[in-house]
Amino acid sequence: MDQFIPDSRIHELMDRKPDPTRVREILARSRRLERLSMEETAELLAVTDADLLHEIFESAKSVKEDIYGSRLVLFAPLYISNLCKNDCAYCAFRVSNKGVKRRALSMAEIKAETEYLLKTGQKRVLLVSGEAYPRDGLEYVLDAIATVYSARDGQNSIRRLNVNIAPLEVADFARLKEAEVGTYQIFQETYHEPTYRKLHTFGPKADYAYRLTAIDRAFQGGLDDVGVGILFGLYDHRYEVLALMAHIEHLEKNFGMGPHTISVPRLEPAEGAPLAARPPYPVSDDEFKKIIAVMRLSVPYTGLILSTRETPEIRAASFDLGVSQISAGSRTNPGGYSEDGACEQFSLGDHRSLDEVVRDIVAHGYLPSFCTSCYRLGRTGLDFMEFAKPGAIKEKCLPNALVTFEEYLIDYASEETKAAGRALMERKLADVPDHVRLTVNSMLSKIRAGERDLFM
Ligand code: SAM
Ligand code: SF4
Repeated sequence: MDQFIPDSRIHELMDRKPDPTRVREILARSRRLERLSMEETAELLAVTDADLLHEIFESAKSVKEDIYGSRLVLFAPLYISNLCKNDCAYCAFRVSNKGVKRRALSMAEIKAETEYLLKTGQKRVLLVSGEAYPRDGLEYVLDAIATVYSARDGQNSIRRLNVNIAPLEVADFARLKEAEVGTYQIFQETYHEPTYRKLHTFGPKADYAYRLTAIDRAFQGGLDDVGVGILFGLYDHRYEVLALMAHIEHLEKNFGMGPHTISVPRLEPAEGAPLAARPPYPVSDDEFKKIIAVMRLSVPYTGLILSTRETPEIRAASFDLGVSQISAGSRTNPGGYSEDGACEQFSLGDHRSLDEVVRDIVAHGYLPSFCTSCYRLGRTGLDFMEFAKPGAIKEKCLPNALVTFEEYLIDYASEETKAAGRALMERKLADVPDHVRLTVNSMLSKIRAGERDLFM
């Protein structure tokens, strides 16, 4: 295999001493929305000086504003099964955890879960599963995808379904593509091979290289919208971030594009997995914020996803640092929405409902968005990058966020959220570029008159 994680070079870079002049040059490059190299990323990660850190945070905020504007995209995970043949040391679904009630949802149950999510106002779902299915091959997952897409609440349905499932062969990735998944997500967990081997001792996931090359196979299978991630807490976060940059460079070199999103889960306590409560390399809140800001600066065009593992306080702080998508109102157990469900995969830091999270986003001056437009208009993969690069995506993101938020306010918001949301909409409408204002106003009028699912 092409060894694209340069282990010794990464270790060298981890001990870099930052030079303030050089850091400021790098920040200037990033504010021009240029992508940074692994070496430049190392320089930023090494910063500890409070003033320089402040400059990093301010730059990250400015890059985020330039590319995405103030919108924040919302989604919810849908766990379909906790059956698993792996033994990841940190996960409650690990095969050696005999205390878990194992459960794979039936199609009727998946429909009920989706209907529950629709009734709260969700339009985007991330389908999640352990690595063992009640039927051979991918059939169960493909049926689950079709079931989610078929569920309805009045005129509303799930408009984009992303998946986070175990790595596949090229031919099976092609089948996922046919099933119209949005993003295929897979987290390497740790790029540090010795740590990876120690924590994944059993089952197909024990194969480090097979997991590392999953995105290559996804691209080869025709999926052009992929998400990567690191489970922070397993190994030194500086190693992980730099290795992730090397992974992205490998993808760009070989396929002309990198991932669409990066997820930044931090290890959370999990039943039957004692390691999760005592992370070998804990990442403090301050380090975590720096990681988010540095990633925003290093790969300006890549979406950053934060889940409900984090507390409301950290989530709110992350909006300013560059996070562009968040989950809300989540449960991490199969059946967890429509009933009590089985054991959670890990414990959550944010237990608020979607309505409460939306209200909080509004209070912070950000615009909640349920937009699925790029995916549905084929603006994915290289097309998305080409479109996003001139900084023009906000000309689409803002109108689509306004229109989907208006739908949410009419159909699902509480009175309190409606009032706060409407006031925010008024302010954000003023930012709509003149050449699309007429179109936006016309779409909003149609939504108020009862039409749904309009986008540009
Ligand atoms: N089972 C598949 C896999 O491992 O790739 C797909 C989904 S797995 C349920 C989703 C992700 O949950 C994992 O990739 C891992 O990063 C994360 N996870 C597992 N245990 C966790 C914990 N204790 N705290 C936070 N995240 C955890
Ligand atoms: Fe299974 Fe994924 Fe949990 Fe590992 S992280 S035990 S593969 S569900």
